[in-house]
Amino acid sequence: MTEDAMRGAMDAIWERSRGTIMARVATLESATLALRYASLPDDVRRDAERETHKLAGAAGTFGFWDASALAREAEEILRGAGPIAPADVARLRQIAIDLRGQLEAARPKAGAATQTLAPPSIEALRAAHARLLVVGDDAAFHERLASEARSLGINVLGASRAAEARELLAEHVDAVLLDLTLEGTGIPFLEEVYNAHPALPVIVVSDGEHFLDRVEAARLGGRGFLQKPVRPSQVIDLLRDSLFVVRSESSTIVAVDDDPALLAVIEGLLLPLRARVITVTDPLRVLSVLAESSPDLVILDVDMPSLNGIELCRVLRNDPRWAAVPVMFLSAQTERAEVTKMFEAGADDYVAKPVVGAEIVSRVRNRLERTRMLRLAADVDSLTGVGTRRRGIEVLERFIRLAQRQLLPISVAVIDLDHFKDVNDRFGHLTGDMVLRRVAAVLSNCFRGEDVVARWGGEEFLIGMYSMPGEAAARRLTLALEKLRAEKFDTVDSDLSVTFSAGVAEFPMDGTDWTSLYRVADEALGRAKAGGRNRVVGPAPHSAVRRD
Ligand code: GH3
Ligand code: MG
Ligand code: MG
Repeated sequence: MTEDAMRGAMDAIWERSRGTIMARVATLESATLALRYASLPDDVRRDAERETHKLAGAAGTFGFWDASALAREAEEILRGAGPIAPADVARLRQIAIDLRGQLEAARPKAGAATQTLAPPSIEALRAAHARLLVVGDDAAFHERLASEARSLGINVLGASRAAEARELLAEHVDAVLLDLTLEGTGIPFLEEVYNAHPALPVIVVSDGEHFLDRVEAARLGGRGFLQKPVRPSQVIDLLRDSLFVVRSESSTIVAVDDDPALLAVIEGLLLPLRARVITVTDPLRVLSVLAESSPDLVILDVDMPSLNGIELCRVLRNDPRWAAVPVMFLSAQTERAEVTKMFEAGADDYVAKPVVGAEIVSRVRNRLERTRMLRLAADVDSLTGVGTRRRGIEVLERFIRLAQRQLLPISVAVIDLDHFKDVNDRFGHLTGDMVLRRVAAVLSNCFRGEDVVARWGGEEFLIGMYSMPGEAAARRLTLALEKLRAEKFDTVDSDLSVTFSAGVAEFPMDGTDWTSLYRVADEALGRAKAGGRNRVVGPAPHSAVRRD
């Protein structure tokens, strides 16, 4: 986001928050009136203390540092239960007057929450499609990549000259595929792109064994290096996380704070991360929100009236469902004892209030990236390199959400190797493992980059195919089966050959969630086994209106 855009967003948030903030000033005003003309009841005093506390945080968030300091001073005077000295009463009155004066005239200050890393434009955030810029002159490859990418919601733009690429980069792109052999590009152009857009994912294509290019590309922020000839699925695999996963809002953040103005600011600040931000003002509602959203990060305010953040964090840590979710605290208290308390309660990080834009954005981004790396480890099957069951389910669920919106079919196939126990018995488990790896490789090559191939367990695999009708899926599987049959394995006995049986189900006819689709595909697999193995059973023909 440009500084102007960020400023515009902050102005808008300020306009929405102004009412709440002025009401806080009013609470302080009533308390000072009570102090001067009557006595100040304890509950009114506690109320005023709480409101000035929030006022200090909110004012700082918008860059009103003077107002923030004044509110903090008022909070200090109101704290405790003893009588308030006459000098302090006068001071409170002055503070209330100054606060009103300053905040009524105010506009959010520049620098309060500007400057985020690698910020995409607001328009781009709103656009439904991610934009991939391909810099190169291979028109046929461009066509194929564009058609594969389209079903994933990625628009492919082309530039066959550096000047053209510069123009498109100035508009906005989410990722770049750069052919280093294109005249006028090369490492200098990569360097130029890197300097102008350091966080932009760039994948570099080159020919031959240009090892130095590879090293240079990595130094200049390259996210991947592909050697010609390049297949579209390789590009999509490399970009999946930056374009597809992020695009489909894989990161969910739950932010809990009793101050709606602050939550609005956090939401605005985190916009460049394209995460789904769910805001909660009532800490007692947090557990039900978590259960519905299974977030990647929870942001907790420490000071909240009904249940404070530290207690809430302990509750989460004691619940097996939330024991591992990253928790980040927001706190105005930065004394060591307070911070220790947060970490003891199970926090992963904390950000000091008032919240400053660049800091919270980079902290949250780091946290989400770490979570994603850990997930990656949980997503790749170590023996075969294809997805794990967990990953398979996750992608299927995402496919289903997308397909429901785009009204497209999905096919799900369950594959089981035939008589695999015999392979182990005859050739040993190591050979069995090698066979599993080869089967995984054959399957990966037979399906598109956007399909998911996962090891379901043992010698069973699952394949999810987006925008693919069941019959077409069954044909593809049959081709894969032929490929596998033709595979030569390097064993002492040359008569090792492997086949599989497979069943296919189609969304939405056979089910609208992954469990029912899996069940139908598994039943079809049962029929394939019963029919003599070494075959694919497609989905049963459906009439258009059939429902389960
Ligand atoms: P069917 O044709 O009915 O599917 O017979 P099958 O022998 O393939 O099926 P069964 O389920 O009886 O046996 C599966 C075998 O897969 C048993 C198990 O030892 C083997 N297996 C599971 N995981 C692995 C693995 O990671 N490595 C190796 N080498 N073998 C495995
Ligand atoms: Mg089996
Ligand atoms: Mg088997």
